Amino acid sequence: MPRFYITTPIYYVNDVPHIGHAYTTVTADAVARWHRLLGDDTFFLTGTDEHGLKVQRAAEANGLAPLEHADRTSARFREVWDLLDISYDDYIRTTEPRHATSVQAFLQTVYDNGWIYKDTYAGLYCVSCEAYYTEDDLIDGELCPIHKRPVEWLEEENWFFKLSAFTQPLLDWYEAHPDAVQPVGKRNEALGIIRQGLADISISRSSIDWGVPVPWDPGHVFYVWYDALINYATAVGYGSDPERFAEWWPSVHHVIGKDILRFHCVYWPAMLLAAGLEPPQQINVHGFLLVGGEKMSKTGLNQIFPADLVAEFGVDGYRYHFLRDTPFGPDGDFSYEGMVARYNTDLANNLGNLLARVATVVGKKCDGIGSAPRPDSPLAAIAAECYTDAAAAWQAVQPSVALDATWRLLRETNAYLEANEPWKLDPGPEVDAVMGDALETLRIVAVLATPALPNVCAEIWRRIGLEGTPSEQRLPAAAAWGGYPGGLAVDKGASLFPRIAPTS
Ligand SMILES: [Zn+2]
Repeated sequence: MPRFYITTPIYYVNDVPHIGHAYTTVTADAVARWHRLLGDDTFFLTGTDEHGLKVQRAAEANGLAPLEHADRTSARFREVWDLLDISYDDYIRTTEPRHATSVQAFLQTVYDNGWIYKDTYAGLYCVSCEAYYTEDDLIDGELCPIHKRPVEWLEEENWFFKLSAFTQPLLDWYEAHPDAVQPVGKRNEALGIIRQGLADISISRSSIDWGVPVPWDPGHVFYVWYDALINYATAVGYGSDPERFAEWWPSVHHVIGKDILRFHCVYWPAMLLAAGLEPPQQINVHGFLLVGGEKMSKTGLNQIFPADLVAEFGVDGYRYHFLRDTPFGPDGDFSYEGMVARYNTDLANNLGNLLARVATVVGKKCDGIGSAPRPDSPLAAIAAECYTDAAAAWQAVQPSVALDATWRLLRETNAYLEANEPWKLDPGPEVDAVMGDALETLRIVAVLATPALPNVCAEIWRRIGLEGTPSEQRLPAAAAWGGYPGGLAVDKGASLFPRIAPTS
């Protein structure tokens, strides 16, 4: 059985989970669910990043120990993921003992391999990023490019990683693995950074103690970023279960936002090479989710919280919107008006209306019993095309394309009903046959859309009389035309997606 290991970034506990974090996590969740449909042995990891100066300072400001602070703030992420039906297999916290064990084993190996040395570091430092910048990186030579706040001059004795030695090995590795960073524009961005030449980087701090201690120099802790990246190895047993680690590494697929491309596409593969390990099989990088053309700011003025939208659109309506509306890769722009419009068009009209129409006609003309589809239905070939397109798009981590392909089958089926007008026909074999075809496309769509709409698809499955759930089905068999057996009671039920009035 193929193994599929997928991760979100671990989120910084000082952040409040907003629709940007949720976009990354829902995407990873939907892709994980797709791979489970394929029958892959799937492992889906998320979690929180809990070390560093900012956490220490925030805890102090609240009169808490850093771990108490992290316990509270980490739980906020878990609550949102539970609300959004995120099907993670493991939730890692970097303050767990298993992680300290793994980080120390990993970096001890890099040290033993000769890639770590001590030196004095002085530079311009953004406390919010917990990163040094060169003057060229800064806005007007003085503001952090991410936070647009002044940086501080910081000087300390640090342990350094010889990143400079990995410029050529990384270029060679990417040359041999042309699909490792997706989409291609983000790969070019990563290669651009490497081709400029890489400087050594500081990986420890002596000025703080909220972190994983450097095993060979206990006065230092590892800088939060290098501890954080190693979570992906910890969760599959690095440093504690070599057999398990060998099973899952390097078949890992990271899903990240472009703000952390440098860490994931440059530093992390170099660290892995330095530890004698393969870089990640794939790094999928998406753009920013903008609101009104602006990046959501930490001050919270334009932050949007998932629970507010779930209250109005439902969990599945929420998940569908971001997966379908924001192509994976470029920056996306969220608007409430756009969300209402897409909900009404795609969910209320195309999906909800098809199910309601089919159930109504079956109720009136077929005694409530659905028939099997015709093997030679004109919809059969369309269903096959839609499956092929959707499968390729999920494989490429392009949920918006996959869902558009799936919705094509709904549009074609609605058009097929308009053309045949079964509601005008007398009860008999002709109506039964047309309705059997439509029920079959609903069955196939329930399987193909279940990664995005797990609850709604399970309900469609139940209403058309099928046993079990669509998420228990296995592809490609479940997408093959002819799976709806017929002779099943169809339940009309209440509207799946009541229309939402556009705001004026
Ligand atoms: Zn910053």
